[in-house]
Amino acid sequence: MRTFTDVVREAEKGKTAIAHFNVATLEQMNAVARIAKKMNLPVVVGVSEGEHEFMGFSRIIALRDAYRRERIEMYVNADHTRSFEKVDEAARAGCDSVIFDAAHLPLEENIAKTKIAVDIVRKRSGWFRKIIVEGELGYIGTSSKLLDAIPEGAAVDSDNLTSPEDAGRFVRETGVDMLAPAVGNIHGMLKNVPNPRLDTGRIAEIRKAAGVPIVLHGGSGISDADFTAAIAAGISLIHISTELRLAWKRGLEESLGENPGETAPYKLLAKSVLYLEDVTERRMKLFSGIQ
Ligand SMILES: [Zn+2]
Repeated sequence: MRTFTDVVREAEKGKTAIAHFNVATLEQMNAVARIAKKMNLPVVVGVSEGEHEFMGFSRIIALRDAYRRERIEMYVNADHTRSFEKVDEAARAGCDSVIFDAAHLPLEENIAKTKIAVDIVRKRSGWFRKIIVEGELGYIGTSSKLLDAIPEGAAVDSDNLTSPEDAGRFVRETGVDMLAPAVGNIHGMLKNVPNPRLDTGRIAEIRKAAGVPIVLHGGSGISDADFTAAIAAGISLIHISTELRLAWKRGLEESLGENPGETAPYKLLAKSVLYLEDVTERRMKLFSGIQ
């Protein structure tokens, strides 16, 4: 099977993006896997610190391997890891990529800490760099839910988006394999208005200066047109979390409302699975350029 690095490089070459979906339950993983199989596309499932504590790395990796035996090209990403212990745990567990997130810190400190995280992963990964390390530059908030307002301190104005100069320096000095910048994206979805527009010109400049693949976080709530322009500008991996959480919750709420006497989880969760599959399929189609 291809490594995660190969898959991202091929996506870049083909001017497409790989979809990354955050999951914390079996039905979420199953829904994502089923669509990846149906579309015959590689897919990434991401688990934040909270999500992997809920499921357990060893079980997530065991499930990934089970899907792979069914010829589903699934990769697991340790999403937004914030301590060196967790970085090491993710690398030892067999994750395909690890994100170290020190984006809330000033640039110098972010570089110093990310460099240590890269060293930890390289030690576990071996010379062939099977595990990818991603660094974060520019604060975009931390929650994956419906928001009343843009997260405090998030970089969304053109003056405080990630600069190409900082991106180049960050990659050179830390040695990360992929970079997630702030280009107008935020974690979470605004309740009453669309999310901010992406600065696709900035994406292209950052990709050139960074020299490594660029990742778009906070994909929920971004318009299809912005996604397509962002991919053309150089984004090759896109994270979706809030939309999937909302689909899961809506399906469960409707099922509980329609079947108050039902107690079988597999019956109550059937609607959530349908909605999860719908979001997954629409996003994978868009990101891979399938009409
Ligand atoms: Zn993220």
